[in-house]
Amino acid sequence: MDYKASEHIQDLQHFGEFGGVNPSISDSSTYTFLSAKTMFDTFEGNTEGCYLYSRHSSPSNLYLGEAMAQLEGTESANVFASGMGAITAVILQLCDTGDHIVCSRTIYGGTYAFMKNFLKKFNITVSFVDITNLDVVKNAITPKTKMIYCEAVSNPLLEIANLGALSKMAKEHSMPLVVDNTFSPLTINAAQLGADIVVHSLTKFINGSSDCVAGAVCASTDFCLSLKDVNNGAGMLLGSTMDSLRAASILKNMRTLHIRIKKHSENASYLANKFEEDGLKVVYPGLASHPSHELMKAQMNHEYGFGGMLTLDVGTLDKANALMELMQQKKLGYLAVSLGFYKTLFSASGTSTSSEIPEEEQKQLGLSEGLIRFSIGLDNDIHTTYKAMRGCMEELGILAADSALA
Ligand code: PLP
Repeated sequence: MDYKASEHIQDLQHFGEFGGVNPSISDSSTYTFLSAKTMFDTFEGNTEGCYLYSRHSSPSNLYLGEAMAQLEGTESANVFASGMGAITAVILQLCDTGDHIVCSRTIYGGTYAFMKNFLKKFNITVSFVDITNLDVVKNAITPKTKMIYCEAVSNPLLEIANLGALSKMAKEHSMPLVVDNTFSPLTINAAQLGADIVVHSLTKFINGSSDCVAGAVCASTDFCLSLKDVNNGAGMLLGSTMDSLRAASILKNMRTLHIRIKKHSENASYLANKFEEDGLKVVYPGLASHPSHELMKAQMNHEYGFGGMLTLDVGTLDKANALMELMQQKKLGYLAVSLGFYKTLFSASGTSTSSEIPEEEQKQLGLSEGLIRFSIGLDNDIHTTYKAMRGCMEELGILAADSALA
């Protein structure tokens, strides 16, 4: 992969009103026009560079959108008030009543709930499939199918989607491949691998400071404009707009994304290898034992590593809860959902971010009750962190002191 996303982001230059090194923040909901005709033309979508109303767009949101387009190498990008705001806008923009979606069965619980429950209101049906089995995906496509939807690295099981093959399949059926790349910004360039529309929750790695929720859609200029259309745009009409002040602050954080991702990956890789040596049930795309390790290697940007997410299955929910509480007491991280923070975050997915998926289905997916999802932090001394985590596992009898599984 030779697309240099972070160089393109660094090359973006917008100066502030007084020559500041950061662009000025557009602190206005509405914009004046010198002529009434230009206002009318702007409503009709015929004027470039004119701002109308901040639910439609604002300079600050456009700057962040530009950076997101550079991240994925798409023509354009729109920003949203949350990842779910971005995802739901894309789905409702692409589907009409009676349509059908082929969707990976391992996805974020909120997306799953929207697909499974909310879309019933519109009589839109969804087939949840094993996205790693291309025959199953192909067989699920019907004449009513409007998109293939998946996560590049899935939440929480860390399954890897074969984006090249899925894109080819989507093209053969004249429909878009929509990819949520929240778990793997920079690590995987989903659009370069063939995704037509890439969605992100900026809440996670991209903003990286766990101080807001935010989202983005990276796609063609036509699709991004369609989302903003005053008559039919799901972004414009559902109103999940990002605030300009927030867009400016996310843009500033995004400039250090490349450094953070490398450190998240380095630390996660270290812990995953150590946990595996200890005989623990660890899943990490960087381990040769990961079922899609080779595919990950073929799709990833090697300089950023295998990402900051890993899972550890400690057997039972009671053990998982005890371990997370103890690790938090020992200041090794926070018992919290979400990801991409400087501090390690951990949660038992089955009873938190994937609790929308019924227990029976969780079992079928291989989402066991003792599975802890870790977003590994930016610890400066990961070896000390490892020793302390190991100590917690020994104290709880998850690991025997001689490092064999208890
Ligand atoms: N996509 C993935 C993979 C997620 O993990 C999440 C949230 O956890 C979302 C989307 C939703 O993003 P947000 O919480 O910003 O709406």
